[in-house]
Amino acid sequence: MTPNATPPLTLLFEASLDAGERADWWRALTTALPRDTWIDGAGADASARAAADIAVVANPTPGRLAASPRLRLVQSLWAGVDRLLGDPTLPADVPLARMVDPAMSAAMAETACWAVLSLQRGFLDYLDRQRERTWLPHAQRRADEVPVLVLGLGEMGRAAALKLAGLGFPVAGWNRSARDVPGVRCAHGLGSLDAALGEAEVVVNLLPLTPDTRGLLDARRFAAMRRGAALVNLARGAHVVEADLLAALESGQVARAVLDVFAKEPLPTDHAFWTHPRVTVLPHVAALTDLRTAVATVAANVEAVRRGGTPMHLVDRQQGY
Ligand code: NDP
Repeated sequence: MTPNATPPLTLLFEASLDAGERADWWRALTTALPRDTWIDGAGADASARAAADIAVVANPTPGRLAASPRLRLVQSLWAGVDRLLGDPTLPADVPLARMVDPAMSAAMAETACWAVLSLQRGFLDYLDRQRERTWLPHAQRRADEVPVLVLGLGEMGRAAALKLAGLGFPVAGWNRSARDVPGVRCAHGLGSLDAALGEAEVVVNLLPLTPDTRGLLDARRFAAMRRGAALVNLARGAHVVEADLLAALESGQVARAVLDVFAKEPLPTDHAFWTHPRVTVLPHVAALTDLRTAVATVAANVEAVRRGGTPMHLVDRQQGY
C-alpha cells in the first residue's frame, strides 16, 4: 500500500517553546507531513485535542496529553524524556518515542571533545589568565596521557566516546548493560562504577535521568574520582548533587567542572556556579535537536503508525529512558 492510500492522521503539536522556535517547528513539521491534519495545541479546544492520533511534543504543559484519549503515539522532539515521564497524567498505555537524531549525537560528541580538549590543554585556565592580562604558558599534555570516562554508552555517549578515542584519548565507558564500543574499554553495572571513576582524569556524564541515576554523582562518587579530576556534565542537572560538587571543588578533589545542565534551569542568577573560578557554565546547549534532521525522524514514525507498524526509538517506561 502506498502511503497516500492510507488515511490522513490528526497530529497534535504540543510545545512550550519561544515563539520563533515554535513557528520554525510548526512550519517544518506541517511541510514534512502536509496531508495530515495538524492541530496547534496552543489554541486547540477540547474536541480538537480529543481527535488527535499522535502528539508531537516539546516540553508540553503537564496534564495536556490526558485530554487526547485516541493517542497512538507520543513523539518527543527531545532526546531526554525524564520531564515527560514525570507527568503523572501522561497516558500510561500510549507508546512514547524519544528523539534520536544523528545531527544531535554529532553535536554532543563535538561538545564532549571541546570540553575534554579544553581541560587536557588547560585552555579554560588560559581564558582566566586573559582576564588578568597574565602571560603564563604551561606544560603541554598529550591526549594519550589523559584518561577519559564516559558515563552512559547510548546514542550520545557512544558518539562522544568514539570521537574522543579518535582524538587519541584513552577512553573508558560505563553503562547499565554490557556494551561493545570499538576502541573503548567498557564496564557495566554499579559495582564497577567507583573503579572506573578512579581511573579517569575527565568524567563525561551522558546518562539518562532515571530513578537509578538521579543524584548518582554525589560526595561518594566525587571521593571515588582521582584527586584533581574534572567533571563534564552534559546530561541532566539532577544527576549531580550540586552542594556535593561545590564541596568537592572547594577541597580540590574535583579540579574543574564544565556544566551544561543544572538542577534548576535557567541557572538562578545568584547560583554559586556562575562565579565559581573553576566552573564553566553553558546554557543547556551541548546538543540541540536539529530541526532539519529531526523532522525526518518524526515523519518516519508517523508513517509507521499510519501503516500499523512499530515506531522507532520507543522509550522503555519501566527503565525510564
Ligand atoms: P540513550 O537512551 O540512547 O542511552 C542511555 C544510555 O545510558 C544507555 O546506554 C543505557 O544503558 C545507559 N544507562 C541507563 N541507565 C543507566 C544506569 N542506571 N547505569 C548505567 N548506565 C545507564 O540516551 P542518549 O544517549 O540519546 O541520551 C542520554 C541523555 O543525554 C538524555 O537522556 C538526556 O538527558 C541527555 N541529553 C542532553 C542534551 C544536552 O543538550 N545537554 C541533549 C540531548 C540529550 P543500556 O545500554 O543498558 O540501555
